[in-house]
Amino acid sequence: MDNNINTPKPSALETIKENSNYLRGTLNESLTDPLTGSLRADDQVLIKFHGTYQQQDRDLDNERRRQKLEPLYSFLIRIRIPGGVATPEQWLAIDALSEKYADHNLKFTTRQTFQLHGVLKRNLKTTIKEINKTLLDTIAACGDVNRNVMCSANPFESSIHAEVAEDAKRISAHLTPQTNAYHEIWLDGKLLEGGEKEEEPLYGKTYLPRKFKIAIAVPPRNDTDVLSNDLGFIAIVEKGKLAGYNVSVGGGMAYSFGNKSTYPRIGDVVGYIPKEKVVDVSEAILIFQRDNGNRSERKNARLKYTIDRLGLDFFKAEIERVSGITLEPVRDYKFSTMGDKYGWTKSADGFWHYTVFVEGGKLIDRDGYLAKTAIREIAAIHTGTFILTGNQNVVIARIPESQKQAIHALLQKYQIVEASSLSMLRQNSIACAALPYCGLAFAEAERYLPTLITRIDKVLEENDLLQVPISIRMTGCPNGCGRPYLAEIGLVGRAPGKYNIYLGAGFTGERLNKLYKEMLNEDGIIEVLTPILQDFAQTRLQDEHFGDFVIRKEYIKATTAGLNFYE
Ligand code: SF4
Repeated sequence: MDNNINTPKPSALETIKENSNYLRGTLNESLTDPLTGSLRADDQVLIKFHGTYQQQDRDLDNERRRQKLEPLYSFLIRIRIPGGVATPEQWLAIDALSEKYADHNLKFTTRQTFQLHGVLKRNLKTTIKEINKTLLDTIAACGDVNRNVMCSANPFESSIHAEVAEDAKRISAHLTPQTNAYHEIWLDGKLLEGGEKEEEPLYGKTYLPRKFKIAIAVPPRNDTDVLSNDLGFIAIVEKGKLAGYNVSVGGGMAYSFGNKSTYPRIGDVVGYIPKEKVVDVSEAILIFQRDNGNRSERKNARLKYTIDRLGLDFFKAEIERVSGITLEPVRDYKFSTMGDKYGWTKSADGFWHYTVFVEGGKLIDRDGYLAKTAIREIAAIHTGTFILTGNQNVVIARIPESQKQAIHALLQKYQIVEASSLSMLRQNSIACAALPYCGLAFAEAERYLPTLITRIDKVLEENDLLQVPISIRMTGCPNGCGRPYLAEIGLVGRAPGKYNIYLGAGFTGERLNKLYKEMLNEDGIIEVLTPILQDFAQTRLQDEHFGDFVIRKEYIKATTAGLNFYE
């Protein structure tokens, strides 16, 4: 593996960060240039740290080229919502912004936040300002910094959920960049004058070598895919109270086709800490990655590669030395699913919660199905909160008994799909945004997976498997935003209409899958899956999951660590 950090030259992005004056660059000039809908090249890098990506509508590329126009540039805005918890007022404000400035859709990401797509440059500042007025923001939602901190959307265990949600917020606040640039550029904040010193105590001028992701899961539900994160915390509940966390390190999904120095990896669970230490340990691990991550080769820059290069023992010793915290032996825990619990649930404190299935995480009014309007009307009367889940769904949480009927009536009025009426495969599906906006997509994901599932459902129906839980995830490229390597059926775009298929992941997010076949079109996918699903229906063991079955029947070898993803 070519992963040598002694390579003298830092990558070009390191220089851009260093010269950016703490993420300012020439963003103000780029934003006010009326001659283009685009930003200057360096500013396209820097703006990610402010929570937005420049994109273009790829559906329109050919037509725009024919008309000798520049591509239709627009911006994705990703909001930072630790734990995915938003108030009804925030919901209504974001919904209104999606109508006024974006493409009318609300995209729920796999990291429990909203994305707005299709925002034009001239509307970017106003939109970000409006988001900040709701007491949400976008800083550090993208870029080489700690991203949105996830936590289990477990409202039916509400006291524990409330506590881990608070921890997610504390970690997020502590690791948020301190640069004044965000306020200067987006909120008309005061410019720092000559004598004032910019402070970025945790990150320094060059921030992190690469993005950094943190999640908390509350067993038995691994709905945050905790082991896919650079840093994961697994809540340990003892005598009904949150005692502390097991710590997992070195997870990450992305790899590059044809580059075996890159690989997906699930985190190693290295120890236990009491809950009071969760922020300190987060900081120590972030600092370790800041100082030891590969700044020459971005493809090998995530913490997973740093740990594999330097060794887990060295890593643990350094974390204990820097933080002064001893990692105690790992405590017992057990995950039973990665999925969400749909429909109505009631928590011990008497509140009701309703989890809405949102296919592909896209909340939209389309073809007479007015899902977006329905949730808007619910938000107008709701007195609790909304929780975005790591599976791209939304929980209408903390509904008092007195309000349940009114919310139920709105769900009925708009005929919001009950997840229980769908195949378990569809209920356990995830798709990344991909086309038309993502510049890295080789193939469709969110717009296509529902159609493919309809075809696979036919095979499942013929084999009486519709109600057997199987996870499926699709992404438009190998970067893994939809965590496809933790799906029992993973599909990753290689070219328009062509996908690699990966099999053998664990149902609880504790084992990666492995490449099974390459470059399949839709018929090819069905041809490959049909005999395996027939065999599964006929010869599976009691309660055996599909991912375990394909390994037992030797369709594929188990991936036991990132480093043997290819073997
Ligand atoms: Fe884009 Fe690839 Fe991420 Fe999908 S996985 S959103 S195609 S970068």
